[in-house]
Amino acid sequence: MPEAPGGHIDARRVEIAVALDRTRRRIVAACAEVTRDPGEVTLVAVTKTYPASDVRHLLALGVYDIGENRDSEASVKAAEVGPGPRWHFVGQLQRNKCRSVVGYATMVHSVDRASLALTLAEAVAQEERAPLDVLLQVSLDGDPSRGGVPPTDLHRLADVVIDRPELTLRGLMAVAPLGWEPVRAFDHLAQVYGDFGIGYPTVDVLSAGMSGDLTEAIRAGATHVRVGSALLGRQPAAGLA
Ligand SMILES: *Cc1c(COP(=O)(O)O)cnc(C)c1O
Repeated sequence: MPEAPGGHIDARRVEIAVALDRTRRRIVAACAEVTRDPGEVTLVAVTKTYPASDVRHLLALGVYDIGENRDSEASVKAAEVGPGPRWHFVGQLQRNKCRSVVGYATMVHSVDRASLALTLAEAVAQEERAPLDVLLQVSLDGDPSRGGVPPTDLHRLADVVIDRPELTLRGLMAVAPLGWEPVRAFDHLAQVYGDFGIGYPTVDVLSAGMSGDLTEAIRAGATHVRVGSALLGRQPAAGLA
C-alpha cells in the first residue's frame, strides 16, 4: 500500500491505482479479442486539469507516458514534476508555443500543417535537443475546427516532416469524429494508416482511443491510447477548473 509521508495510506494514489488496474484490464481484454500482445499498446495518461501530484502518483504506479493538451498548463507541470515522465503533447498547437513545447515534449501527436512542422523543427534546432517524435493528426470527417488534415493531404505533410532532421515521423493520430460510431471511425483510420505507413520506415505509431472508445481503437490497431477521465475522474480537480 502506498504511504504518504505521515505514514497513512495516500487515498488519491489508491484511487488512481484502482482506475489504472481497471484500464489495464480493458486494454488486455481488447488485445485478447484480436490476439494482440498488450505490450504493443502504450497507455498515455492524459493529466490535463489535474495537478502535478497526480503525475507523480502515475509515475509511482509505473505510468511514464503523460499527455497534456495545453502548453500553458503543461509547461508549468513539467517544470514542477522534473525528470521522469515522457510528455506527449496531444492538443491543438499554436506556432508561438512551439519553443516552449519542445522544451519538455518527447512526442507531439497533433501536427496538422506544414507551418507548424517547420516551426517545431526550428525550435528543436534552437533547443539543441534530440529529434522530436511527430504524429500527423488525421481528420476523418474533414471538419477543420477540431484540427487534423484530411487523409488525401497526409503525404504532402509527411514529406515536409521527413525533410527535417529535427523531426522523426512516427505515425498518425486521430480522434473519432463527433457522431460517428467508434468502430466506423477506427476501421477507417486503420485503413488510412495501413496505406500511409508504406514508404516511411520510421512509422510505427497509431494514436487512437480515449476513455470511452479505447477498446474499438485497440481492435483496429492502435499502439497508443490516450486516457484521461477513466484514470483520473470526470471532474477537474478542485481549484484547477
Ligand atoms: C482530453 C483528451 C484525451 C483524453 O480524453 P478522455 O475522454 O478524458 O480519456 C485524449 N486525447 C485528446 C486529444 C484529449 O484532448
